[in-house]
Amino acid sequence: MSNRIIPIIRQSAGQPLALSTDASGVATGLLLDTLQRPLRDLRISVTDRCNFRCVYCMPRAVFNQDYSYLPHTDLLTFEEITRLARLLVAHGVTKIRLTGGEPLLRKNLERLVAMLRRIETPDGAPLDLTLTTNGALLAKKAHMLKDAGLNRVTVSLDALDDAIFKRMNDADFSVADVLEGLDVAHKVGLAPIKINMVVKAGINDTEIIPMARHFRDTPFLLRFIEYMDVGDSNGWKMNEVIPSRQLLEQISGSAKDMQLMPATSGRADETAKRWRYQDGPGEIGVISSVTQAFCKDCTRLRLSTEGKLFTCLFATHGHDVRELLRNQSDDVLISSALAHLWQLRTDRYSEIRSQQSGPLKKVEMSYIGG
Ligand code: SAM
Ligand code: SF4
Ligand code: SF4
Repeated sequence: MSNRIIPIIRQSAGQPLALSTDASGVATGLLLDTLQRPLRDLRISVTDRCNFRCVYCMPRAVFNQDYSYLPHTDLLTFEEITRLARLLVAHGVTKIRLTGGEPLLRKNLERLVAMLRRIETPDGAPLDLTLTTNGALLAKKAHMLKDAGLNRVTVSLDALDDAIFKRMNDADFSVADVLEGLDVAHKVGLAPIKINMVVKAGINDTEIIPMARHFRDTPFLLRFIEYMDVGDSNGWKMNEVIPSRQLLEQISGSAKDMQLMPATSGRADETAKRWRYQDGPGEIGVISSVTQAFCKDCTRLRLSTEGKLFTCLFATHGHDVRELLRNQSDDVLISSALAHLWQLRTDRYSEIRSQQSGPLKKVEMSYIGG
């Protein structure tokens, strides 16, 4: 194949990142970045809109009536998303997570799920197809999503106490809506279901133990997430983070029957470290994105709603693939450009967070997808 240059546009600088296609665009199912990390997970943000205004993600002061969301024509179509996903699966992606914003707000999402479901890995295995949601619309949509081929869901829930939950979501949604969503998702078989609780000191840390107790005897795996410095709008401060170590001590010290011990972990690249109760059944997970970086095992690529690829959650710019998808009919050329993007990846923000000098202009979690 002749040497050709594919431009992928940097979001911030707007400069084309020249990517040569000298290597063959034919995918081998294994791509390694500069730190020898394979590409395995793809997170697809299907909307930048949300019905919640979580204080740590889309604070109302910023995401108000004057905020400009992406116009519909900028969004990748389901056909474009599926084409890109197919090329990335050929490069080694085995798991796709739909996210946002709130993914259940994207119209006809089940049609996208059905399209992605038809993609198989190079050795003929089905994809692990999942979705992260705030749960408010889950009771209504779980059945359709399951029928379309979704495997499972992760549901975010930050408190059991309604007043605290409403302070966190700042949109007057009740815990009961989410619990109903969880129940329906479980009944239709969108399992195993994980629950994500972001803990912000001074707002919902009093809910750590009630949440641990409540979900201990359920089929749901509760995971506590350290509040992260994603984006620029949440006004993150380190003293609002409850380190996982402290949280584990708090649960273990709360009662004799709540003592925790490490559980055997699943996959090496699992972001959550699992802990189980010494006394009887039940497990929790902790995601220590701030205090214990897991960049060395990070195999994730993120696709924003309007077609920019981000090789790190804390990236300051994305690489525009929408133009390629809209103007390039040759899949081999796009495949080569994707390979180069991953092979050039050096990201390890969480490992070097404290060494950063000066503020970075980071993308928002609601835009890039969690
Ligand atoms: N709206 C969906 C939801 O809330 O599940 C999906 C998108 S949301 C951005 C994905 C995940 O990111 C959620 O579990 C949310 O709690 C988490 N998240 C958002 N902002 C965060 C932050 N600053 N620190 C840690 N986790 C955060
Ligand atoms: Fe919306 Fe999810 Fe962000 Fe909350 S965390 S504001 S539900 S996108
Ligand atoms: Fe991956 Fe970037 Fe997070 Fe490190 S900081 S785990 S490279 S997304």
